[in-house]
Order: sequence, then C-alpha cells, then structure tokens
Amino acid sequence: MATHSRSHLVLRINALLDGEQFFNHWREKFRDPQVFGTHIKSHCPFHLGEGFRSFLLDLRKKTFRCTFTQCKAAGSGTFADLHALLTDKPSLEALLDLCATFRLELPSEARVLLAETLAERARALLRDKKLEAAENVAVLALKEHPTSTAVRVLLAEICELRGRPGDSCPYYESALQEAIADKDWSRATAILDKLCSLNPNQTAYVEQSATIAEARGDHAQAVACYLDLGGHADIAPAQQCGWLEKARTLEPGRLEILERLVESVLFGKPLDPRGEIRKWATNELIALDDSEKLSKIHEIAHGRRKLRYRAISDAAGGPAVLVHLMARIDPRLSVRYLHQMADDENPAIRAAAARALQDIKKSASSH
Ligand SMILES: [Zn+2]
Repeated sequence: MATHSRSHLVLRINALLDGEQFFNHWREKFRDPQVFGTHIKSHCPFHLGEGFRSFLLDLRKKTFRCTFTQCKAAGSGTFADLHALLTDKPSLEALLDLCATFRLELPSEARVLLAETLAERARALLRDKKLEAAENVAVLALKEHPTSTAVRVLLAEICELRGRPGDSCPYYESALQEAIADKDWSRATAILDKLCSLNPNQTAYVEQSATIAEARGDHAQAVACYLDLGGHADIAPAQQCGWLEKARTLEPGRLEILERLVESVLFGKPLDPRGEIRKWATNELIALDDSEKLSKIHEIAHGRRKLRYRAISDAAGGPAVLVHLMARIDPRLSVRYLHQMADDENPAIRAAAARALQDIKKSASSH
C-alpha cells in the first residue's frame, strides 16, 4: 500500500477519535498535566531528564508534539500516531488496536481502505515467506471488506501455498461469484481456470463457464456448456429445460438443441404447461428442409430408446404428437415412415401412425 493511502487512512481514523476520551484513556502517561482549554502541556512520556513540560497535546485537532528535538516524539503527529508510540506497536497493528480500544465505527470507505492496507501487509508477509502471519492478516482484511474479490483470491493463494488446496476453493468460488457479479470477465476467467485446475470435479463450474463464455461473446462455448447442463442427470428436468432454452436463444437453428428440447418436453409435459416449447419445436421442425425434418422427427419419435421406454409407460405420450406432426408436415413423404411406425411395438406410436395414415388417405381421396 502506498504510504499516501496509509496516511490518508490514519487521518480518517484520527478524525473519528474523541480527543478528550483519548487523553483520559492514556492520562497516567502524561505527568503533571497543565490544561489550557483544549491544549495540554505535560512531561514527555518518551524521554526522561527534562525539567520542563515539553509535551503538547491538542485535544481539538487531536495532534501532539514534543519540543525536545532529540525525542522520538519530536515534530508533530496525530493521536493515531501517538497511540502507536504509546502501545509500541507497528503502525498498522496500532491502528487496529486504536479502533478496537475506542470502539470506532469506521465508515465503509475507511474499512475498504483498511482492508486494502491489511491486504498489502499480507502480500508483504507472503513475499517474506511468513505464510501463517500472512494468512492471519488476510483474514483480518476480509473481515473489514467481506466482498473484496482481491482479498479472497489472496487468501485462496495463501491456503494453496500452505498446502490446503481444499480450503482455497471456497475463497476462489466466492471470488468468482463476485467477479461475475461485477462483470469483470477477465478476472472471472482467470479464477475459473484456477478452480478447474484445483477441483477434480470438472462439472462443478459448468454454469459459471457458460455465464462467462456468453458474456465474452463465445457462443459456441456457452452453448456447449448449456447443452452439458441440459443433459445433466443431477439437475431437475425443469432446470434442464431452462438451460436448453438458453442454448436455443444463442443458436436457434441447431438441431441438437431442438432434439433435446423436444425430448425434455416429451419427458415432462408439466414443464411446458402452456405448450410454448412444443409450439416452438413444431415451428422449428416445419422450417427445416422436408426430408431433413421428416428423418429428424422419425428419429426423435422412433429411434430413441429411452423415449420409447417412456412412451410405453405413458400411453398418451409425446411420440404420438410427433407422428401427427410428421403427417401434417408432409403427408406424401411421411407415408414411408408412418408405415414403419404402424408396425411399432409401442401401442401409442402404432395407433397414432395408423390414424395418421387413415387421415392422409381420406384427404387424398377427397381431392
Ligand atoms: Zn519527548
């Protein structure tokens, strides 16, 4: 931390002090005080052997000085500096001690400044290989500024260096969330790479990967992640549908997404109560080239084992809807597929195909 911001912090904290309370706390250090309003003259607590009162305190400005030039308290300073001299602590520790002793409520910007100062100290300790002390100071910094991404990353690095990679993951994870919330994509990417190298569970951060990839305009990567999430067994079907929907908005024409969505809808009708996805899927299918769409529907309705399995347990199931859709899209070309389906072992598909064939025959004869 630049000396400049540390001295700014000292001034900020000094301003919060009550001069009189400070004096009363340290009163016994100041021998034979003479009070002149808010000014006090006493013997110096730091050097001995002077017969006169060389020590001056200003309770209003909260400053002090010793007029004896060889004294360590010579020149002027703030009460915050005086507290460091009286406690014989390094300046940063003395500041923390001062805040604790006088129960100072720091405003948020001062706390941020304090956290930055502490983090800088932690980094210096880290450079000196004093890992335990560095961690302790970094923990204090996080206490002052709990949402700081930089402090969390620092703590994560320290945990890693101390041989506790497991402890570093939660810090990286929360730092990642902060970076995403701040839309700091390059930082988020760096943290994500780190997490992926630490956590053996490679699927743990797919959601974050998707968010970052989409924000950075890498649609191919985002769609790959959403498809991954959309097919994840640990994720609830409604949520899977949500991820696939996201993939669809990025790459509306992609058949794989269409197929997966149709499948999700077929697997769980309650997911699409207003039939919106179904409607969309229908339109997408209609928009395809004729032979392509027919074979695609055929594949969806007919070729998928788990879909067929589901259809058997669900007599009113979706495959029948697709069979009718097929007949509607292109009655002439679909006849071949419908004939195949009319022999299907699944009664729902069989019945739907037979009905569709009948309808086609009927409309052909009426023309
Ligand atoms: Zn002195």
